Amino acid sequence: MENVIIIGTGAAGLTAAIYTARANLNPLVIEGREPGGQLTTTTEVENFPGFENGIMGPELMDTMRKQAARFGTRYQYGLVTEAELAGDVKKLTLDSGEVLEAKSVIICTGASAKYIGLESEQKLIGFGVTSCATCDGAFYRDVPVAVVGGGDSAMEEATFLTRFASKVYLIHRREEFRASKVMIDRMLANDKVEPIYNTVVEEVLGVEEKSVRGLQLKNTQTGESTELKVDGLFVAIGHKPNTDPFVGQLEMDETGYLITDSTKTTIPGVFAAGDVQDSVYRQAISAAGTGCMAALEAERYLEHHA
Ligand code: NAP
Repeated sequence: MENVIIIGTGAAGLTAAIYTARANLNPLVIEGREPGGQLTTTTEVENFPGFENGIMGPELMDTMRKQAARFGTRYQYGLVTEAELAGDVKKLTLDSGEVLEAKSVIICTGASAKYIGLESEQKLIGFGVTSCATCDGAFYRDVPVAVVGGGDSAMEEATFLTRFASKVYLIHRREEFRASKVMIDRMLANDKVEPIYNTVVEEVLGVEEKSVRGLQLKNTQTGESTELKVDGLFVAIGHKPNTDPFVGQLEMDETGYLITDSTKTTIPGVFAAGDVQDSVYRQAISAAGTGCMAALEAERYLEHHA
């Protein structure tokens, strides 16, 4: 049986791995669908302390991974599909069917981008529909694109995309943006961005061609439908925490984020760190910080449950 299994390899999971490995707990880390987490879909990270000139997201994660490995962290690929967390022996079932047992578990499964939920949108993900401007923006040079959303992410993506696109339509379902004033002002000051208010995407056009050629929009006030010609759709409507395997066992808020006291979940010996329990800050450094805290809490727990 393992001392500690860490689920996830983002900033939280790898920091928890560094700390538990250095504490001689011989951690096993389960790598999910996106090894390295959300930072691997970013370009330059300018605000992670210690890198005066910034560092590329994938490089930062690769370095953290090697740092954890240096102290004996073991990695195993797999998706946790089921968990039995109550009791002293925690059981995790992987998509391969393998069942792992551990005395403690640190959940660092992060959060995934949300999509609108249209069938046409789902069919065109990767073919003009994306949730990551920093990953895919450069593919849209000198063509019009649209961003959907009204929060800070949407403002950030719209402003970023003006580096490449000829025009960026920012489609929001309401009159008022949810984003912070500074982000709204920056977006509005950019001539290439055109906000479209009180509007939702009804259909993404181009399914037959397997590439986005436009959007069918609906004005929520008048009910009027119009077509907008764009070559790409960037969906920036928030994130969903990856907590499905833990439903019914761990306490969550109404959107699925794990509720923690420090990093302790509602089951002894089960801890959570990073975006899976943080809907507010969602930063690499805060994820790393809670990863450290979870490791120290697990270490203390194991001292009394050897
Ligand atoms: P968010 O604040 O939850 O905003 C989501 C936006 O998407 C809202 O405007 C919402 O509309 C809209 N939306 C949600 N579901 C939709 C749907 N089905 N169809 C159309 N629109 C939909 O998410 P976020 O922008 O990703 O930000 C999350 C957190 O990260 C925030 O705390 C934010 O401050 C932070 N963040 C900070 C920065 C930064 O400071 N650099 C950058 C990015 C994110 P309504 O407003 O009508 O609900």
